[in-house]
Amino acid sequence: MSSNVLVIGSGFAGLAAATSLAQRGYRVTVLEKNEGPGGRARVFQAEGFTFDMGPSWYWMPDIFEQYFARFGKKVADYYELVRLDPSYQVIFKGAEAVDIPAAMSELRALFERYESGSGARLDEFLRQAAYKYKVGIGKFVHMPGRSLLEFADPRLVVDAVRLDLLQSMHKHVRKFFKDSRLLELVEFPILFLGATSENTPALYSLMNYADLALGTWYPLGGMHQIVEGMVKLAQEQGVTLEYNQEVQQIVVENGRTTGVQTAAGFRPADVVVAGADYHHAEQHLLAPEWRTYDEAYWDKRTMAPSSLLFYLGVNKKLDKLRHHNLFFDEDFALHAEEIYEQPKWPSRPLFYACVPSITDSTVAPAGSENLFLLIPVAPNLPDPEATREHYYHLIMDRLERHCGHSIRDAVVYKRSYAHQDFQQDYHSYKGNAYGLANTLRQTAILKPSLKSKKVGNLYFTGQLTVPGPGVPPSLISGQVVAKEVEKEFPVKN
Ligand SMILES: Cc1cc2nc3c(=O)[nH]c(=O)nc-3n(C[C@H](O)[C@H](O)[C@H](O)COP(=O)(O)OP(=O)(O)OC[C@H]3O[C@@H](n4cnc5c(N)ncnc54)[C@H](O)[C@@H]3O)c2cc1C
Repeated sequence: MSSNVLVIGSGFAGLAAATSLAQRGYRVTVLEKNEGPGGRARVFQAEGFTFDMGPSWYWMPDIFEQYFARFGKKVADYYELVRLDPSYQVIFKGAEAVDIPAAMSELRALFERYESGSGARLDEFLRQAAYKYKVGIGKFVHMPGRSLLEFADPRLVVDAVRLDLLQSMHKHVRKFFKDSRLLELVEFPILFLGATSENTPALYSLMNYADLALGTWYPLGGMHQIVEGMVKLAQEQGVTLEYNQEVQQIVVENGRTTGVQTAAGFRPADVVVAGADYHHAEQHLLAPEWRTYDEAYWDKRTMAPSSLLFYLGVNKKLDKLRHHNLFFDEDFALHAEEIYEQPKWPSRPLFYACVPSITDSTVAPAGSENLFLLIPVAPNLPDPEATREHYYHLIMDRLERHCGHSIRDAVVYKRSYAHQDFQQDYHSYKGNAYGLANTLRQTAILKPSLKSKKVGNLYFTGQLTVPGPGVPPSLISGQVVAKEVEKEFPVKN
């Protein structure tokens, strides 16, 4: 008999953990509260449009390739990727719109145009970022972060210095660039995914390598194709997926979980892996005596932002937009401050507009456009309809100004999504969209532990534990936790 593992949640982390364990011979069942898989990367259809609900940037294609390769497969066996060129468009203050080209020679020329000498400095910046990517993604992110001893290898200590763990991103990027537009360009990936550049270690310039060197990709059919590919692979490995199965309790006896309780009854398990939001799994599914952390601990964590989203079906083509569009036409620092330092609804937010129908005709009816708008906002804010509407018009004014024509009168489908929806759909702590921020104090061993310290056979995975938020890290998180389970609870034959 193989060991019986229950995985809570079918996000990227839960799916990766389940599939990796099934490959090793465990009997694995995924229990998902929602009616379909993917967690924050779910999809829905309305009025002929197909909306990806969460992630839209496909970065780090190597991570996805490595994942499928572990099972003897290729990404191309499950979905077709195309590289976007331009990678994206940025609209700076003063309505200056610039395409970020995929080719490095054109990118260098663009930097040079903004700041003399910055083309060569970009090469050096990316050379260092490439090293961080190689070591950070190749080694560090695969560490379970359970003990300092993992970092005791002298080669890693040397690496840690070159990885810039102790210098802030803010300081680091200013050694290379001075022009405010270039600074915004290299600082946006961390701002959108978790923290101000002052609080983020310069290690995360590896994100710039992912962005500017490895490129922005898109799976034809939409981001949900990744989920569908992963579900197919999971089933090929023997994983059972059950939807509409909300876990209500992780049952513990004498320091070990015996299984979970759902509305349908008790489900026994030898090991439980919680891929639901860590805070929810710990604080709501476990009795107080079995929790490693308390509410005060969680309240002190720096959460990554929430988002106000709009899914819009527009029955005409939109001018002057690309697949990805970053509206940096307002004060970058002010918006960051209103997310992280003085959390409140932003006065003049930056926002992001995604139009996948520019690349992919299958996600919108002919002659129409699939428009996804995202404003990063502080977690834990009330999000009544009136507030959502206020921001809808505020950013629509700017979008219409940029496009040079009206859009609102062509909207045939509209749905908003914010804090309350994240809480209701995913049990998201404080309505966060992207989990825990990647600050220095919340890196590696300083993140909530991927193994319970009180319940011997209970593990956690996903964007609130190692290695952090984002699709590739969640994918890695599932694989890391599977390895820990295998070490400590080898499969029974
Ligand atoms: C709007 C948005 C945009 C994003 N953009 C990008 C992007 O462009 N690129 C990128 O790389 N990343 C992006 N991200 C981040 C990325 O989507 C997440 O980091 C990743 O999807 C998290 O995966 P996860 O498995 O940790 O969690 P989740 O996807 O949240 O999965 C957890 C699952 O657990 C289930 N669950 C919760 N409670 C229970 C329960 N009691 N019982 C059973 N099941 C339960 C939930 O329903 C959910 O399916 C974005 C996220 C959002 C929200």
